[in-house]
Amino acid sequence: MDIRTLLRDNIRSLAPYSTARDEYEGELGIYLDANESPYENGYNRYPDPHQKALKRRIAEIKGIAPEKIFVGNGSDEPIDLVFRLFCEPGRHNAVSIVPTYGMYKVAAAINDVEMREVPLGADFSLDADRLLAAADSNTRLLFLCSPNNPTGNCFPTATIERIIRTFHGIVVLDEAYIDFAETDGFLGRLDEFPNLVVLQTLSKAWGMAGLRLGLAFACEEIARTMGRVKYPYNINVVTQRIVLEELRHGIVGQVDEIRRERRRMALALAPAPTVRRIYPSDANFLLVEVSDPQTIYERLIEAGVIVRDRSRVPLCEGCLRITVGTPEENDRLIEIFKNLQA
Ligand SMILES: *Cc1c(COP(=O)(O)O)cnc(C)c1O
Repeated sequence: MDIRTLLRDNIRSLAPYSTARDEYEGELGIYLDANESPYENGYNRYPDPHQKALKRRIAEIKGIAPEKIFVGNGSDEPIDLVFRLFCEPGRHNAVSIVPTYGMYKVAAAINDVEMREVPLGADFSLDADRLLAAADSNTRLLFLCSPNNPTGNCFPTATIERIIRTFHGIVVLDEAYIDFAETDGFLGRLDEFPNLVVLQTLSKAWGMAGLRLGLAFACEEIARTMGRVKYPYNINVVTQRIVLEELRHGIVGQVDEIRRERRRMALALAPAPTVRRIYPSDANFLLVEVSDPQTIYERLIEAGVIVRDRSRVPLCEGCLRITVGTPEENDRLIEIFKNLQA
């Protein structure tokens, strides 16, 4: 598959903005090239538009060449960029599953791209044939999220693989929750699939939602083109600096605790009078079906606990989505649930 033929014509021929930092890359000297303030305060200089140090570190951690990494302002940025790279507004379309993360559909709407939503099975299973059948010759993007939000399940590797191999456009595989899952995901197999874009984020397991740093991993052609289309200085100096510091310590301990707590919460909540069902989860949240979601949602708020009411989402009728917190926070939630009457 030649990725270049999938790019929009205007993107393929784009001459990107050249920053002062593109023209001179040295480290030492007197910088009179960018009309910055000369008074050093830690952020008077423009950031590295290519985030080289950050990409080197992420490359080490993930075992992926820096040329295959795109760093964005949250996952929101690469989600928006894939539409801008590959979809002619009003003409091309995209396919996704439902229920899934709401941002794909919003980004599609903003870019005037039709989103074709294919329901999962009642057990949240993925029917590859139905998904592929929703695509036509104008379908450029296919979104998958595994582990999926809000259902919490991973889809089988073989099914995802078949979709990537069969689909004639770009498959965007969102692995925001992969650190909490048993499986490794598709990062290690990037080289097999030139039409695959894997999204990950520092917002969940890495604990940096407030810094806004999303990652896209893809073949060099796609990663480079995303880099040409993005705002030149999309990751600010402070975020680049703090993320680099934070990436020095691992997350294994915290991830292990979240996974243990997820299991403990599921076991403790299951016998509660208002709980009907707890879906298996590979993420840092539980999808919990309850007897009366609106009332229980209100009761939890009265007790100072905020969860996400997903009961109006297709296939999630009656469900609340509950993030795994600290052991103390989870104890509190369990206690409240014990005392709620159906
Ligand atoms: C939380 C989440 C993200 C992360 O978004 P950021 O913009 O990186 O904070 C991405 N995808 C899914 C499915 C999510 O649930």
